[in-house]
Amino acid sequence: MNYKISKRAASLSPSLTLVIDSKAKAMKAAGEDVVGFGAGEPDFDTPQHIKDACAKALADGFTKYTPAAGIPELRQAIADKFQRENGLTYKPSQIIVSCGGKHSCYNVILATCEEGDEVIIPAPYWLSYPEMVKLAGAKPVIIETTDKTEFKVTPAQLRAAITPRTRLFVLNSPSNPTGSVYTPEETKALGDICVEKNVLIMSDEIYEHLLYDGAKVKSVASFSPAHYDHTIIVHGFAKAWSMTGWRLGFLAAPEPIAKAIDAVQSHSTSNPTSFAQKGGVAALTGSQEHLPKWLAEFSKRREYAWKKLNSIPGITCVNAKGAFYLFPNISQTGLKSADFCARLLEQEKVAAVPGIAFGADDYLRISYATSMANIEKGLDRLDKFVRSLGK
Ligand SMILES: *Cc1c(COP(=O)(O)O)cnc(C)c1O
Repeated sequence: MNYKISKRAASLSPSLTLVIDSKAKAMKAAGEDVVGFGAGEPDFDTPQHIKDACAKALADGFTKYTPAAGIPELRQAIADKFQRENGLTYKPSQIIVSCGGKHSCYNVILATCEEGDEVIIPAPYWLSYPEMVKLAGAKPVIIETTDKTEFKVTPAQLRAAITPRTRLFVLNSPSNPTGSVYTPEETKALGDICVEKNVLIMSDEIYEHLLYDGAKVKSVASFSPAHYDHTIIVHGFAKAWSMTGWRLGFLAAPEPIAKAIDAVQSHSTSNPTSFAQKGGVAALTGSQEHLPKWLAEFSKRREYAWKKLNSIPGITCVNAKGAFYLFPNISQTGLKSADFCARLLEQEKVAAVPGIAFGADDYLRISYATSMANIEKGLDRLDKFVRSLGK
């Protein structure tokens, strides 16, 4: 049978991360000793009080449809979080709870972009952004950055990329895949340009709480009422509360955009899972004691991995100030990233994600959301692999 696939679906690139990941999983299943640096999620368990709140909701029979945009209690708890932590005032009607930060990103793009629109995305980028833009029928416009600027876009680069068709600028700080963090001044400078040019900003702040070395972030929405009016903040529970499998995220937007996204959601997914939302309330209103412990552990691993990577001849790595990734430069090895990762997996049984997946072929993404023992073993093997190339 000759199935006709829609242009939209056919335009998507297959996920390179999944190719390496499924190969690594198959090797593991065959009993091979694979070290995985591919994880895009914390290796810690969801804190117990959050699980308890969800279990209680289930036991209480909280298992029916809720409003598509989330239960009032959770929308209020999210509005309170923005007030308390970011000094941002949102009404609960401006908050839309979703089935994950990824779902929120998709709905923002779908509700604001269409054919003929351009969306500016700095590379290295989270691999879903350009594909979501294509699904909306709009055009991704990529700004290249390198480790020389810590993978940060300069105001001049942003200005040069804006055209009359630019609708949205995607800002992700701390960043997946690079871990880089824009200072408040740098964030403001980019926001100023978007305000001046009347470009909306989708600010993906999902790694907001994962910061090291005293790094500080300030939401681009918070610099002035005009910045607020141009910004949609995407956030979620996946990273700072280790709730990736719960599928729970949220966004905060100017009222008309929130209303449009509510409508999109009401006709596509409907509400995020009812009892997961009760877990979300507990995550925001309950103890945050887990976080400093996780940060201390992440920080220790990051420091070790960063030093070890830089000790390998042919590899250089800027230190990341956020998230749980390092993005080493492998250009001196003479291999492109997909080839590098395929051979690394084959030869040394180490799984890393090729930079090409994020639009940056001279790099790898190393996730340190895995045990210190794994990091030591995996990086020793990476060292051996690079030396075997004889460069
Ligand atoms: C993990 C992540 C998200 C959201 O993930 P969900 O599991 O959908 O909540 C959003 N943006 C970036 C950059 C991420 O790394």
